[in-house]
Amino acid sequence: MTEGRSLYDLTYEELEDVIKGWGHPAYRARQIWEWVYVKLAGDFASMTNLPKELRRQLAETFSLAPLHLLTEAVSTDKRTRKGLFRLRGNETVETVLMFYDKRRTLCISSQVGCGMGCPFCATGLSGFRRNLSTGEIVGQVLYYARWLADPLAGGEEAAPVPRPTRVTNVVFMGMGEPMANYDRGWKAIRILTDKRGFNLGARRITVSTVGLVPGILRMAEEDLQVKLAVSLHAAEDELRNWLVPINRRYPLAELMDAVRTYIRRTGRRVTFEYALMRDINDRPEHARALIRRLKGVLAHVNLIPLNPVEGSPFQPSTRRTTVRFARMLEDAGIPVTVRLRRGLDINAGCGQLRRHVLQGGQEGEKREGEITGVRG
Ligand code: SAH
Ligand code: SF4
Repeated sequence: MTEGRSLYDLTYEELEDVIKGWGHPAYRARQIWEWVYVKLAGDFASMTNLPKELRRQLAETFSLAPLHLLTEAVSTDKRTRKGLFRLRGNETVETVLMFYDKRRTLCISSQVGCGMGCPFCATGLSGFRRNLSTGEIVGQVLYYARWLADPLAGGEEAAPVPRPTRVTNVVFMGMGEPMANYDRGWKAIRILTDKRGFNLGARRITVSTVGLVPGILRMAEEDLQVKLAVSLHAAEDELRNWLVPINRRYPLAELMDAVRTYIRRTGRRVTFEYALMRDINDRPEHARALIRRLKGVLAHVNLIPLNPVEGSPFQPSTRRTTVRFARMLEDAGIPVTVRLRRGLDINAGCGQLRRHVLQGGQEGEKREGEITGVRG
């Protein structure tokens, strides 16, 4: 593995400073930026319009591969691919590529593990290891952007849509809590939305948070039109304190105030995620509590059938209960969608492939013990 600094850690301006510091003209930064983010070059040697000396300096200083694919799982319908990547320090994270009708949505991780401890979540059960760097966040997107751009990657038949094609949407819904790694995550967003390079539309990016109020208030002040999703899962404090323990620090009233501020400042609708768990948060009284909580809020509710996690007592709601819950919201005038279940056959839920691999002992015994020891 190349241990050098990742080029994906740098904004355009930072790259320009490096290039000028080496005594090259500033326009070289533009050329490199295009190689990396438009032509999706995987190495410096292919950047043929750069002087040899500059290519050598770049290769000595920077890596273009902050993560390495360890294993990949592909759903039987090929519409979901999930990569498990190895990072510096022998850590691992997951990235999921989902093909929808028109969208190719990438679900990326922001941390190795997560410290928020939601008991139904595979990542939460594995505990927190470390924050991802900006380069590691950008690198997940670039890996799959290259894969989609290469008509032959994984074999001609590997993708359910004709290639070359692009990543159209990015959601921070993989491992980790993005608001707990705010600066690195937002730097990654600035790099990915840079019009001179990857040029992803800010509105095609969604940051999903467990409800960290300071992060929501910061996001309300950002100039980019990035979307906000809040993982609610319960509309009353007592139940939410259990399902989403950080609720004790930022209870619902405070969270909803921050969301209202966000909406006032940005004019944007907020998505509320609600994973339906059998007999836990899926009864009519829970739907009524949710309706009360969202009254007058510019909201959209995403009902997610729970992905069962190995060794966890939380079970998904039945189809009937899910439909009943969705109808109640609809009748109250709250826009609601039931998110399709994707990639169940490949452990596609948040943190699940990593957990599977770690528990399978493919990662070396010491770490396996550490991770499974948290809760099993
Ligand atoms: N930490 C952030 C983003 C990552 S989790 C957050 O919590 O929002 C992305 C989404 O997956 C969240 O809505 C989370 O609650 C949900 N999730 C976690 N475990 C799940 C499971 N087993 N089944 C369904 N959704 C799950
Ligand atoms: Fe962390 Fe989100 Fe999982 Fe909660 S649901 S443990 S915040 S990743």
